[in-house]
Amino acid sequence: MTAQKLMLHVCCAPCSTHVIEKLREDYDLTCYFYGPNIHPEEEYRRRLEEARDYCGSQGIAFVEGEYDASEWLEAVKGHEEDAEGGERCKICYEFRLKNTAEAARRLGFDPFTTTLTLSPHKKADVINEIGRQIGARTGIRFLEEDFKKMDGFKRSVQMSKDHGLYRQSYCGCEFSKR
Ligand code: SF4
Repeated sequence: MTAQKLMLHVCCAPCSTHVIEKLREDYDLTCYFYGPNIHPEEEYRRRLEEARDYCGSQGIAFVEGEYDASEWLEAVKGHEEDAEGGERCKICYEFRLKNTAEAARRLGFDPFTTTLTLSPHKKADVINEIGRQIGARTGIRFLEEDFKKMDGFKRSVQMSKDHGLYRQSYCGCEFSKR
């Protein structure tokens, strides 16, 4: 049986390590780097190149999304002071997953999912609910996961060390950097 073509939204190389390892067993995987939330642009480029290089080293196809940072800022307007994990983050997840689903549809992928649930700072049930709703709207199934489970995060830290990957010290946006 031919494996389903899955589009994996990737936030950074370290988070992609364990997720790629897990999903490639069952899917024909392509990584989609989409991070308009990442500030400044120099940091965006650094994370992008690290993710691209890592995928290349693993023989995984890689697609770069658009860096539409001003649209992202407009979307989270009024939520600059929200605590991490609050409303701004939900808008941010929605923004990134919606774009990924649209890219998946345009490029002929089904299902799609994201590396975001790997982080111990991010609630999988919130991300999965947003993904489910976007999946229902776009007609591209969202693969619900919690990649941090079964020591998934720990494994990603080890793999990142083994591959000498750059690991950032803040989530991504200028508000998380403060
Ligand atoms: S803290 Fe992270 S998830 Fe929350 S809005 Fe900023 S970049 Fe997005």
